[in-house]
Amino acid sequence: MNSGFIWHIVLHLVVPMIIAWLFFRPGFKRAALIMFAGILIDLDHLLADPIVDPDRCSVGFHPLHSYYVIPLYLLLSVFPKTRLIGLGLVIHILLDWLACL
Ligand SMILES: [Zn+2]
Repeated sequence: MNSGFIWHIVLHLVVPMIIAWLFFRPGFKRAALIMFAGILIDLDHLLADPIVDPDRCSVGFHPLHSYYVIPLYLLLSVFPKTRLIGLGLVIHILLDWLACL
């Protein structure tokens, strides 16, 4: 495993935790745990070959990272009931996208 990949995982855990701490203070732990679920969409990497390619941009490539599903993630973050899961997914896409720059 290369260090870039580990850094990526760390970011995907730390950023939701910071957002939970800043905006969802009373239920901070629960909020962070739900947002961690955003990392599950990386399971779509298993469909790709190779599974991890540091030169490939995940956003727009993998099915759960495609431009068609991003509006759905944004929509989920609008409604209070699905807000945390939606935010977790939006944060995930943003982080993956930043890694592509
Ligand atoms: Zn991803």
